[in-house]
Amino acid sequence: MTLSLSGIGVSRDVAIGKVHILERGQPEVPEYSIPRRHIEEEVRRLHRALDTARHQLKDIRRRIPESTRADIAAFIDTYLLMLEDSTLTTAPEELIRDQQCNAEWAMKQQRDVLARVFDEMDDAYLRTRKDDVAHVVNRVLRILLKQDTQPHDGSLSLKGCIIIADDLTPADTVLLQHQGIAAFVTEFGGPLSHTAIMARSLRIPAVVGVHRARAYLQNDEQVIVDGRHGVLLAGADETTLKHYRKQQRAEKRYYAGLQKLKRAPAVSLDGHTIRLHANIELPDDMKAVKDSGASGVGLYRTEFLFMNRSGVPDEEEQLESYVSVVKQLKGRPVTIRTLDLGADKPSDSTRNGPLPTNPALGLRAIRLCLKDLALFRPQLRAILRASAQGPIRLMVPMLSNTQELAQVLNLVRETKEELRREGIAFDERIPIGAMIEVPAAAICAHVFAKQLDFLSIGTNDLIQYTLAIDRIDDEVNYLYDPLHPAVLRLIYLTLRAARVAGIPISMCGEMAGDVRYTRLLLGLGLREFSMQPSTLLEVKSVINHTRLNTLNRPSRDILHCVHSDNARALLHRINEA
Ligand code: PEP
Ligand code: MG
Repeated sequence: MTLSLSGIGVSRDVAIGKVHILERGQPEVPEYSIPRRHIEEEVRRLHRALDTARHQLKDIRRRIPESTRADIAAFIDTYLLMLEDSTLTTAPEELIRDQQCNAEWAMKQQRDVLARVFDEMDDAYLRTRKDDVAHVVNRVLRILLKQDTQPHDGSLSLKGCIIIADDLTPADTVLLQHQGIAAFVTEFGGPLSHTAIMARSLRIPAVVGVHRARAYLQNDEQVIVDGRHGVLLAGADETTLKHYRKQQRAEKRYYAGLQKLKRAPAVSLDGHTIRLHANIELPDDMKAVKDSGASGVGLYRTEFLFMNRSGVPDEEEQLESYVSVVKQLKGRPVTIRTLDLGADKPSDSTRNGPLPTNPALGLRAIRLCLKDLALFRPQLRAILRASAQGPIRLMVPMLSNTQELAQVLNLVRETKEELRREGIAFDERIPIGAMIEVPAAAICAHVFAKQLDFLSIGTNDLIQYTLAIDRIDDEVNYLYDPLHPAVLRLIYLTLRAARVAGIPISMCGEMAGDVRYTRLLLGLGLREFSMQPSTLLEVKSVINHTRLNTLNRPSRDILHCVHSDNARALLHRINEA
């Protein structure tokens, strides 16, 4: 009998292979006292372990392919920074000296102290940081205990295996991929976790959030992992296996075919040209953009330059980053979004006072910038100065009312005036646009459209705010539904507002890079998409196999569906046509 376990599929591919269950709880930490004369040697043992951990992480970082999103590599850098921090170096050393205890025990005590500090902070992002500290400390503990730090000890080949684990860190994911695993399934984790993002980037079939998976499976049994539908099948019969093998072969051919589209334009079968742009977070992402054949950058998330560091980058450092992107684009446009710090993207330098109860609804993005002009003005200057070097559009995140817009436009005017007085060059006609990602802005998109040069729909936030679900909260992930009629209507309203005002409109949320929605969005009138570079060729392939003039009617029908399930059925028909 076939056993089917469901979770959340985080990458679309399929894998068939033998189960390998990873059992890795917390390392057991012994406590013993160290004679005074051996204390210095114990301290040295601690520092040797910290050094080894640093070497290991640097090695893992080297193995991350260049095409992987830069924030993933930056994430490993954060682990490395933790290993330099005095809370994990000096503090345990002092514990060894004060308590005459072994290095492992000192490290464990320090981990528990930090965990308590994080626990007292009622913030989902900081809770993730607590897990990061635990991952780093556990690595050092395993080194001290002479246990294997790799998710797998290497004594057995993992080539072609399907890993079943409670959870995996992004570092584990890189290592396992190098050991040739075919797929992984975790009991915890959500689709927006770094491990999930890593799986998509590395194209490892993966399903996360399969509760109690390890209780139902045995080592070496054959299973199928279907990353697209988020299921794991055990005990499948020959017909099911045949079906999935066929799907694997088709996928292989499909990916090989995609590479040929790199230089091809995105043009529908009935001759409509569609603009496909890429989203980036750091200038390092430009390598992936070049590989994707994108015709520009539709969303440059500048806040990443402000994260994982102490202090704020000054105007010159920001200018350098923006110019680096402009130069690499060689005349193709880049849309630079002003800082979207706050909520799930905090920065040490902007965090003041107690944390808000609802950070996603709090002082975030343009709200934060308008409150802290010392933060915002240098960015405006840097963007304007960079505009002298190539085509730049300036985009404002999270606008919700026209007063904010008036303030922004006024600040841009003032900054231009200042630069003129200083004799500094900039593009006098730099287009100014806004992200439509708050329901209020979508409903009033016609008002914003009259005062702006372009709009871009941020579906990640628009869905979060429309459906009242925190996008980083695992517990409510299941409600995240781009096909909810309320979401589709807001998208449509925004598209129509831009069309009536005669200004360009793009979409830069994850929905724009999800091929399931490409035809629907085309049918609703979207002609410009911006997405993670890794999804661009797939979207192009769908466009190049689509006749736009057949999409209007069924897309309108979807728009009028009252239930998402009906919308899903209709969408299936559009996609299969
Ligand atoms: C969005 O909200 O859709 C978006 C693109 O912005 P971010 O994901 O950076 O909030
Ligand atoms: Mg957003």
